[in-house]
Amino acid sequence: MSEVTNDVILEALKGVNDPISGKDVVSAGIIQGLQTLDGNVAFAIEVPAEKGAEMEPLRKQAEDTVFALPGVVSATVVLTAERAPSAAPAAPQSGQQTKPGAPVSPQGQGDLLPGVKSIIAVASGKGGVGKSTTAVNLALGLAAGGRKVGLLDADIYGPSMPRMMGISGKPNSADGKTLDPMENYGIKVMSMGFMVDEETPMIWRGPMVQSALEQMMRDVNWGELDVLVVDMPPGTGDAQLTMAQRVPLAGAVIVSTPQDIALLDARKGLNMFRKVDVPVFGIIENMSYFLCPDNGKRYDIFGHGGAKKEAERMGVDFLGEVPIEIEIRERSDAGTPITAANPDSPAAKNYQAIADAVWAKIEQGQASDSLAPRIVIQ
Ligand code: ADP
Repeated sequence: MSEVTNDVILEALKGVNDPISGKDVVSAGIIQGLQTLDGNVAFAIEVPAEKGAEMEPLRKQAEDTVFALPGVVSATVVLTAERAPSAAPAAPQSGQQTKPGAPVSPQGQGDLLPGVKSIIAVASGKGGVGKSTTAVNLALGLAAGGRKVGLLDADIYGPSMPRMMGISGKPNSADGKTLDPMENYGIKVMSMGFMVDEETPMIWRGPMVQSALEQMMRDVNWGELDVLVVDMPPGTGDAQLTMAQRVPLAGAVIVSTPQDIALLDARKGLNMFRKVDVPVFGIIENMSYFLCPDNGKRYDIFGHGGAKKEAERMGVDFLGEVPIEIEIRERSDAGTPITAANPDSPAAKNYQAIADAVWAKIEQGQASDSLAPRIVIQ
C-alpha cells in the first residue's frame, strides 16, 4: 500500500466544511500541524475557545475523512483554541482511529490527559494472576516517593478498584460534564465500578469500550499527575490491543505467575505491546514463592529463578517478585492494600522495590523522549 502524503490529505479535507467561516477547512486555514508518519496522521483544527464542544462533529468528520483514505493506518485529530492572547484554551478534544494491526500513531499524550506526565499499563496474559493487586500496590509504591499518582481501572467488564482501594460512593461532577476522581491513600482513582454496581454484568460493544475508556481519561479531572497507572483488562485479545493503542502509554509492565511464565502467557502480553510499539518495562512475577506466616520461611513452590531466566530469553527486564502471602490477599480484598496498611512488611517492601524499578524506567523513557521529535500543538 503506498504511503499517504500531506497533499492527498489536504485535498480530502477540502471536502470538509467549517461551519463558522462557511469555507472548507483547508481554505479557512484552520488545519494546523499536519504530520504524517508511516500512515499515521495527526493534526489540529483551530477553533474559537468557546466553541470547543460545538466543534466535536467537525473534528470527527475530519478524522473520518482522513481515516478513510487508502494508506492511512491511524488518524488523530484534536481541536485547539485560537491563539489570541486573551483567549482561554479550549478543552482539548481528541480521538484516534487505528486500523487493526497498525502500529500506534505518534499521538500527543497531552491531548487526552494534558496534566499527566506518564501513563503506564499493568497487564497480564490471563486473569487471576494478581494484576489488579499489583497495579494497586505499584501505584501506592510510586506515591510513597512523594509523586502524584492516579489509578485508572480499564477493566470495564470486571472493575475491582473500588473494592481494592476501599472506596465506595459515586464520583462528584461539579459542572455536570466532567467527573472528579475518587481518592484514597493519596491516589486518585477512576473505575467503571463507581458508576455501575460491581455485581452488575456489563455488556459492551467494541466502540463503547473505547468511548468508556476515553471518557475515563478525557472527562475526569485528573489534574496534574506524575504517573497514571492503568489496570488493563485481563488477557491479550483484540479489546486489549485496541486499548493499548488508544491509551498513550509510556510503557507497560506484565504481571505473571510462575506457571504462566512457563505456559508462555506472559509472552502473549509482551507481543501485544510490541505490536503497538509500546515499550515493555518488564515482567513482575507474582505468587513467586510462599512465605509461611507461621515461621516466616520461604518455600519456592514452583522453583526459583525461572521468571528471571524467561524474561531474559524474551529480551525484557525482570522487575521483581512478590510472594504468595495470606496478608496480601486479605488486605487486597478488604480495601486496605498492604503497601498502604503495612508498609514495613516484607511484601510491601517488594512492591516498593518494584515501584522504584518502574519509576526508573519511566524516567529513562522521558529522557530519551526529549531527544525525539514531537508534535507540538499550541
Ligand atoms: P487479576 O487482576 O489478575 O484478575 P487480582 O489482583 O484480582 O488478579 O487477584 C486475584 C486474587 O488473588 C485476589 O483475591 C487477590 O487478593 C489474590 N492475590 C493477588 N496477588 C496475591 C499474592 N501475591 N498473594 C496472595 N494473594 C494474592
